[in-house]
Amino acid sequence: MSVNMKSILKSIATGKEYPLDEIRFTSDNGELLDVIHDLEAIKKQFGISREYYFNKRGKINGQPSGGVWHFKELVMPSLAESEVVSKQEGNTRLYHSKKTSSWLGLNVERFFLKHEGENPTGSFKDRGMTVAISMAKHLKQKAVTCASTGNTSASLAAYASEAELTGLVLIPKGNVAVGKISQALAYGTKTLVVNGDFDDCMRLIREAQVKLSAYPLNSINPFRLEGQKTIIWEILQQLEWQVPDWIVFPGGNLGNTSAFGKALHEAHQLGLIDRMPRFAVIQAEGASPFYKAFKNNFAGLTPEKADTIATAIKIGDPVNYTKAVRSLKWTNGIVESVTDEEILEAKANVDAAGIGAEPASCATVAGVKKLIANREIKPTDRVVGILTGNILKDPQVIVDYHFNRKTSLANPPHDIDANINELKKFL
Ligand SMILES: *Cc1c(COP(=O)(O)O)cnc(C)c1O
Repeated sequence: MSVNMKSILKSIATGKEYPLDEIRFTSDNGELLDVIHDLEAIKKQFGISREYYFNKRGKINGQPSGGVWHFKELVMPSLAESEVVSKQEGNTRLYHSKKTSSWLGLNVERFFLKHEGENPTGSFKDRGMTVAISMAKHLKQKAVTCASTGNTSASLAAYASEAELTGLVLIPKGNVAVGKISQALAYGTKTLVVNGDFDDCMRLIREAQVKLSAYPLNSINPFRLEGQKTIIWEILQQLEWQVPDWIVFPGGNLGNTSAFGKALHEAHQLGLIDRMPRFAVIQAEGASPFYKAFKNNFAGLTPEKADTIATAIKIGDPVNYTKAVRSLKWTNGIVESVTDEEILEAKANVDAAGIGAEPASCATVAGVKKLIANREIKPTDRVVGILTGNILKDPQVIVDYHFNRKTSLANPPHDIDANINELKKFL
């Protein structure tokens, strides 16, 4: 059932309002826009409460409405169900990993890993994409675009195919993991390899929106962030609304940082939670403009040339900076940075625990390790770490590690003759 609820676009700096159906991504002054829903009216109409979501059953286009669209009235209330383009994204698992928690020195009962790599195209990007592509159709857009470090292009490609829209993805030359570019090609989207970095691609996307009316599906698109909010609500629901002490996740373009803060702010306004968890956003040392801004009391962002093995967060000029600062203020949050070596070590541990995730995701676990060592996170704290992408996204990093490293977790293959005695040596 679609609901006649009036949502609007609103500048996060000046509060200037614009209609939801106006195609724009910033205010007239270039500030980021929030999607603002009439939470009070929605709460009243649906009787929003913890029990409401516990008991809610329903279908969207004939499919069980778990995941993103379980929260439809808080994601995009005015959109008709028939306009929703969904692959049942969300409903991802919350793991307890004995091996990972003992490596970190945390109590297994109090440490959780939310695996967003279990989404339809293997990353959390699908949660935002289902909403933004539904809105693209609703707004009668013909062509959708993105700049991508890989996962957004994989997601866009799959959803553009489903929605029968023309897709165009821009990826920086030489910097995209093989699993991700393979997906974009396989799902049939035009893939342009740009002689430049992610930040160059992002600039082109903004220009293409103005000059070529191509609709961008990067996280500058406020509808993407509405879908990504559901990661937080799903975690809260999985924890029976017991707010954890910490939520830890990687930061690149800072879309998640922005969306997660909004999700908690709204949950608080709706009375679903009575306190806020603290955020710890983790950046790779070679791509850490947000970390540096945090250390400088958010006096301003200095864009930098990004360099890290974790290609999904190899971003030097994050578009959602101002929204992300707001999220950290709401959650008394912190930003930490970790080296590529620390990311690889954390990844070897997450992978060897039988869970596995791509490098950027493992910045989360490397960050928890460092924050425990720094005594920011206490061993008794309840901690949720978010793994943003699937292990198979970046097989090259895995092969390089296990063939070339001499660490205790390095697990290279062995060549043997076809002889049972050879097997005996390994048992
Ligand atoms: C996009 C992406 C990120 C970065 O998320 P932001 O919201 O841009 O900060 C981190 N990890 C993975 C796997 C991603 O695909």
